[in-house]
Amino acid sequence: MIAPGETIGILGGGQLGRMIAMAAAQLGYRCHIYAPEPESIAAEVSAAFTCAAWDDAEALAGFAADCAVITYEFENVPVGPLAPLADKLLAHPRALETAQDRVNEKLFVEQLGGKPAPWAEVNSAADLAAAIARIGTPGILKTRRDGYDGKGQWRIMSSADAEALVLPDKPLVYEGFVDFRAEFSVLLCRGADGDIRFWDTQENIHNGGILDTSTVPGSDLVQGEVAEARALAAKVAEALGYVGVLTLEFFATESGPVFNEMAPRVHNSGHWTIEGAITSQFENHVRAICGLPLGECRLAAKGVVMNNLIGDDVHDWAQILSDPANHLHLYGKAAARPGRKMGHVTRLTL
Ligand code: AMP
Repeated sequence: MIAPGETIGILGGGQLGRMIAMAAAQLGYRCHIYAPEPESIAAEVSAAFTCAAWDDAEALAGFAADCAVITYEFENVPVGPLAPLADKLLAHPRALETAQDRVNEKLFVEQLGGKPAPWAEVNSAADLAAAIARIGTPGILKTRRDGYDGKGQWRIMSSADAEALVLPDKPLVYEGFVDFRAEFSVLLCRGADGDIRFWDTQENIHNGGILDTSTVPGSDLVQGEVAEARALAAKVAEALGYVGVLTLEFFATESGPVFNEMAPRVHNSGHWTIEGAITSQFENHVRAICGLPLGECRLAAKGVVMNNLIGDDVHDWAQILSDPANHLHLYGKAAARPGRKMGHVTRLTL
């Protein structure tokens, strides 16, 4: 067990790290952020900051020496340089290896009985033509690695679209477009003792590939698919020997839940848990990695809606605060660029 007062290391310096650090502070821990960018909104609320490249072995060793346990808020951290930290790192780097590559992730989930959209690896224009001949259009071409918030994705409506596309020089995957009824995500926390707890399942609306709204409880379209989706998420957590918060995203379809992707970390669709659940995803992640008992995940209200503030939405902060029922979270980012997550607002139905 890592006792309060000890230091938790966090790889990545963004808003997820900031909210983990705030939950850790509440439990009496200090946090040390490691990130390559000099501006870190997580470091602003933490006790220590190492600004260094992901592959700086000396800086990583110094960081590890200061930390009793290390976690990450960003899943695209290169895994190789983390090897010397592996005995302090939770969740285990095998979760990163699986989730960093869309092909590995789909193969892993398929082995456990999950159903992704029809997919094919694409490394050339000929591969893409063959994938379209087998799977059909419409579809989405995605980079295997490093994509997030709809980045590194191309919608392919026809073979002509595919022929006109200049393929990036990166490994890709083509997915058939899922005619979904709704989107939802399963958020769980697995403790160091193997105890698994689920939060209520949120229905998610994306806009341009970026999460816009999470609503709890989800509609009937989602409710009927939760049990199957949770069973898969629990198998993933157990197969990875996972400790901490894990998120799996799904499409609700007529033929059941279709797996979209997983994130081996706290997740934007779980931000509602800060006010809307007895214990937030951030607090339970800290409890799990420190070997503490997990907190209750039940809803603390009849319902919850979380809206992201993207880009210029952040300028509405004063108007948002004029409604006393709104919980406003601003991440302290300097520039409100289009598509950038600047904050979120949570409303409870009591
Ligand atoms: P991703 O980054 O893969 O989660 O994609 C972001 C969003 O794009 C998803 O939440 C969906 O709204 C949409 N999307 C991605 N892949 C597909 C697919 N195969 N079929 C339909 N919509 C998709």
